[in-house]
Order: sequence, then structure tokens, then C-alpha cells
Amino acid sequence: MLHERLEPIYDAVVDRNQGETEFHQAVREVLESLGPVLAKHPEYAEHKIIERICEPERQIVFRVPWEDDNGYVQINRGFRIEFNGALGPYKGGLRFHPSVYQGIVKFLGFEQVFKNALTGLPIGGGKGGADFDPKGRSEREIMRFCQSFMTEMYRHLGEHTDVPAGDIGVGGREIGYLFGQYKRLTNRYESGVLTGKNEAFGGAQIRTEATGYGTVFFVQDMLSVRGESLAGKTAVVSGSGNVAIYAMQKVHELGGTVVACSDSEGALYDEKGIDVELVKELKEVERTRLSEYTERRASGRFRQDRQVWEIPADVALPCATQNEITGKEAEQLVRNGCVAVAEGANMPTTPEGVRAFQSAGVAFGPGKAANAGGVATSALEMQQNASRDSWSREFSEQRLREIMSNVHDRCYRTAEEYGTPGDYVAGANIAGFLRVGDAMLALGLV
Ligand code: NAP
Repeated sequence: MLHERLEPIYDAVVDRNQGETEFHQAVREVLESLGPVLAKHPEYAEHKIIERICEPERQIVFRVPWEDDNGYVQINRGFRIEFNGALGPYKGGLRFHPSVYQGIVKFLGFEQVFKNALTGLPIGGGKGGADFDPKGRSEREIMRFCQSFMTEMYRHLGEHTDVPAGDIGVGGREIGYLFGQYKRLTNRYESGVLTGKNEAFGGAQIRTEATGYGTVFFVQDMLSVRGESLAGKTAVVSGSGNVAIYAMQKVHELGGTVVACSDSEGALYDEKGIDVELVKELKEVERTRLSEYTERRASGRFRQDRQVWEIPADVALPCATQNEITGKEAEQLVRNGCVAVAEGANMPTTPEGVRAFQSAGVAFGPGKAANAGGVATSALEMQQNASRDSWSREFSEQRLREIMSNVHDRCYRTAEEYGTPGDYVAGANIAGFLRVGDAMLALGLV
């Protein structure tokens, strides 16, 4: 339910951003938490902070022309939404996927503003990408696409202005090509302009692992509040990309067993526990399909028509894409005994799904909080680049662990303070909003 003062603000967002359904969903979820904030702090309404926070500071849309291996000209559309810079340079990943359009980039950018605020680090929020499908493209085609994308993007970036990273379809390889082109165009070795770089040229240790690890740390903290732990628990994870792989690895390190994961073709079940090294080999090195797993490990079962949510487990970690758990899947997970859910992906649970989890008493960690470890480690990469320093793996993981505990505690405490104990969705939205809102008030009407 929306507070009566927030209803017209939401209606105006829908009206001004027609057809952008994912953006509307992300805005509504935040506004639903802000009623108690307005009651306590009328100054935000007086200065129209909520209206301002829903309007991106800058939206860049551009043509990305490139040539494929057969000599044909291809055209894609590129985006960068610089959503809110009150806390620092715009920070957020780039997504290369055919589903990308303004509404997806805006929802991701909006979420990023609150997530970045929750980390306590000095970073604003932004997001970008292109409707480019990397599947089936050769190494050279990927490189040419990245170079063309950066040839327009570079003029909007800078270590103090806007600092992209990876997301779906953009990993270490793509960041390398993007950084190479930025360097060539600007004649500057400005390491801090992109994060998620290879460790050989300024990348932070454990940046690759950070989002997945951080998501599992968040589960650990939610369980610990309830006097439980991950040891001995089973988990299902959607996706088999960057976030999913390292979430699985950390669950295993902490004594749990991941029994299922997936890709866009179907779900893989392994009663003996997923062999994460094999998934890494298939997806990161050979860049092939997850279904190949069954050729190499007899206990693996792959089904095209199956979702991981059908498989009973104590913990569910959606790490693929938006709106992958609806009310129906959430109810099934609850029936099967699931006690904790943390969103490694951005907005993977629909509002009906969130309600089903919360009303069943499942510990539910929203993406803004649970997957903040990736961007937090990106901010640590920026710190290291600025001081030409490189931290050890142990120290980097310790920093990530501390940051995730702080994010958890901030959400937990804020939810209590605003009368919704145990509601991490409200806690994350309110705590993120307060930090950005206060900075916006202090910076004046800009
Ligand atoms: P990724 O490495 O490209 O992996 C994405 C995985 O999800 C792949 O297994 C992919 O399957 C699957 N997938 C993608 N779109 C899908 C769809 N429409 N239906 C079904 N499966 C789909 O991407 P990622 O970096 O792990 O990102 C995953 C999620 O985490 C996204 O929501 C992203 O915004 C969020 N996130 C990422 C980071 C980060 O640091 N990377 C940080 C915070 C949040 P295929 O292999 O078949 O394509």
C-alpha cells in the first residue's frame, strides 16, 4: 500500500516513463516503504526529495555501429543512465543482453542509488548497457562491439564522474576491451574509470567473487539473527554466471550444499552437490552450455523445462535476472521448507513473491542489500587505483565481510526503528533513502 502523499508521486512516475514497467515496479517497491519516513521527516516532502530521486540526473542513449565477422554492418542501441550523484561519482554496471531497453536500465540505475548508499561508501548510482546479444559472437566481434560502445561512452566517463563495471553479459573480458579503448581514446591510464578489471592491470582481488560471496554473507547474517547457520543446509541457486558461481562456492565453503543451479536453457540438479569447479570451467573458460555438465559428471541431471525453485532446499539464492520468482514459485519454495532467500540478482522476486516469503516468516534479503558486495568491492578497487595500491586477497575479503555485516545491521536496525522489525525490504529502502536524501538536502536544489 502506498501512503496517500506518495500515490500521486508514483502516478506521475508512471505517466512520465510510459511502458517502462520494470522501472515502475522498482519505484513502487521503494515508495511503499517510505510512508513512515514522511511522517517523521516532513522536510523531504517540502523539498520534493522523493520526486527528485525518481528522476535521473542524466539519460544518455546512443547508436553503436559495428561490423560482424561476415563483413555485415550491425547496429545496437547503447544506454547510460546517470541516476543520482549526490554521494559520489555515478557507479553501476553495464548489461549486454537483447532484453535491454530504457526501462531495464532505469530500474537497475534506480536500485543502484539505494544499494550504493547502503554500503556507506562515497558512490552515486548509475547503470548502462546495450541490447547487444553476446551469445554466439566470436571473440573479435565482442571486441569490436566493446570498442564501438566505448567510442561514444568515453566522453561521459571519468574516475570522478562516472565509473561503470560489469553486469549480465559483461565480465572481465569485456571490461578489458572497454578499458583498452578508453585508454586509446583519452591517452590516459585512468585505472579508476572502470572496475572489475583484471588483477594484472588494476583490478581488485575478489572483485569477481564479491557479489556472490557478499550475498552468502548476508544469508549468514540473517540466519545468525535467528540462531541458525548455513552449515548442513541445502541451497538452490538460479543462474550459472558470475554471481551464481561465487555464491555457490561460498555456500560450500561455509558447510552448506548447493543441489541445483541453472542457465537460460534449464535447470541442473546434482544430489551430490553441484561441482562448482566444473560449472566454472564450462561457463567461464569453455563458454558453453550448462547441460554439458551431465556429460562429465554422472550424478548431474539437466532438464530444459525445469526451474530450480521446484527443488526442495533450505535456502534459495536467485542470481540470474529480474522477476524470476513470482508468487507461485515463492509459495512452492515455502511449501518445500525454504527458510531464507537472498537476492544475488537485481529484483528477481516479484512483489507477490516478496509478500509470500514475508508472510510465511522466511528471512528475505532484497537485492539492494544482499548483492551490494559487488559494488562495494568496486569502490574498494577505486580506492586502490587512486592510491596506486593493491591489497591482498585476505584483506580484501575481510573488508567485504565487514561491509556486508554493516549493510545487514543497517537494514535490520532501520527496520526496527521504523516499526517493521525483521523486514529487510523496508530497512534497506529507508536506510538507503535517508543517506541519499540527506545529501540531496545538503547540496541544495541542483
Ligand atoms: P552473468 O555472468 O551474465 O550471468 C547471468 C546468468 O543468468 C547466466 O547463467 C544466464 O544464463 C542467466 N540468465 C540471464 N538472463 C536470463 C534470463 N532472461 N532468463 C534466464 N536466465 C537468465 O551475469 P551476472 O553478473 O552473474 O548477473 C546476474 C544478476 O546479478 C543480474 O541481475 C545482475 O544485475 C545482478 N548483479 C550482478 C553484479 C555483478 O557484480 N556482476 C552485482 C550486483 C547484481 P545464460 O548463460 O544461458 O545466458
